[in-house]
Amino acid sequence: MSTRLVLLENSSETSLSRLLQTLGAHFEPQASLEEAVCVDTINSNKKSVLIISGQHLNAAGALARTRSVSLAQVFGNFAAVLLCAWDCDTENVRCLAEWIGGKVEVTRFQGDAHCYAVKPLALAKPFSGLEFGPVKAESDFGLTVAGTSCPVETIVSIGELSFFFRVMLPGTQLFVSCSSCIFDVDAEARCNLRAALSFSGLAPLLFFLRDCGISAWQTPLRAANIVMDDPDLKESYGFIDPKTLAQWLDKLDCAVSIGFIPWNFKRTSPSVVELFRSRWPRLSLCVHGCDHVNAEFCGNVSSSRQLIALALDRMERLSRDTGLSYDKVMVFPHGEFSGSAMQALQESSFLAAVNTELIDSQADRGVPAGQLLQPAITSYSGFPLFLRRPAGEPIANFALDL
Ligand SMILES: [Zn+2]
Repeated sequence: MSTRLVLLENSSETSLSRLLQTLGAHFEPQASLEEAVCVDTINSNKKSVLIISGQHLNAAGALARTRSVSLAQVFGNFAAVLLCAWDCDTENVRCLAEWIGGKVEVTRFQGDAHCYAVKPLALAKPFSGLEFGPVKAESDFGLTVAGTSCPVETIVSIGELSFFFRVMLPGTQLFVSCSSCIFDVDAEARCNLRAALSFSGLAPLLFFLRDCGISAWQTPLRAANIVMDDPDLKESYGFIDPKTLAQWLDKLDCAVSIGFIPWNFKRTSPSVVELFRSRWPRLSLCVHGCDHVNAEFCGNVSSSRQLIALALDRMERLSRDTGLSYDKVMVFPHGEFSGSAMQALQESSFLAAVNTELIDSQADRGVPAGQLLQPAITSYSGFPLFLRRPAGEPIANFALDL
């Protein structure tokens, strides 16, 4: 059975619908609570699920009183409801307690000592089992739920408190995310996402959508690639011994791409070339700048075009001399690039760029945060920019990428 997602929103509330659009989730916006709860489930072959915020909960409480019915009856036509983007005001808490037939107690957080702990549940993958923080004390809170006869399952806790949980009401699963925060897709992002900062405004919604079977963008292949910048193809480079690297590649069944500096096109040795040839494409080459001098790809379109042509010429000579091919993927030296360089790359035969940084250093500008929820950033002349992370970042950041 397919699922119909209804989003209750007033005209002033657009951040949630913008987020759902960015995630590629199909939904029906609904401004009227009365109309939303009149959904006809008997004559429909779809199950309906609903997303509401705190003010709709209060309005539903008033509607229930007017109609002399329970809140469970008001939302009874929905298989699942997500309560999010709410601030746990007194009326919210009263309504929630009435809805689940129990007691609800709110705790606010202070300082940065509190962490999210995600239960090892299928719906919470790939965060399942992770603990990280600090929580966003200004927007997140924790609840203690007691006295209800309905089963309560905590999905994410903060200390002893529930942060994201579901209550199995008869006929309806009520999901509650305890945060007033919603991921703002239009805010300027000047660096890659960090799990602790983005989790409360994003992950509970993603878990809910997945559990309800709402299709959103998903990667068909959950895999990672290690990119190492700078080494040439000689017997040793700094701490890198290519033979040992190749052995670990075989043992761990992983993939490594060397960000090769085109200027080094003559710096090769036959044994290292053979290592690459025998493990291709799990051991591969991509292009790391041209001369690898400071800010070389931070100039205008014309200087970038010349550098790109020279880099490609050198890589072609490497290919001719060694028989090794390379990926037409650019990793910028020191992570620095300009929007003009991206435009020049778009005109060239390069396929994409991979970078840790995302700032256009010429314009000193980031990208809309919603771009980071897409497979690649495309706001630079449409040339795909894939972000990578330093290996030492918290594991939860990598979970966010999956
Ligand atoms: Zn480098």
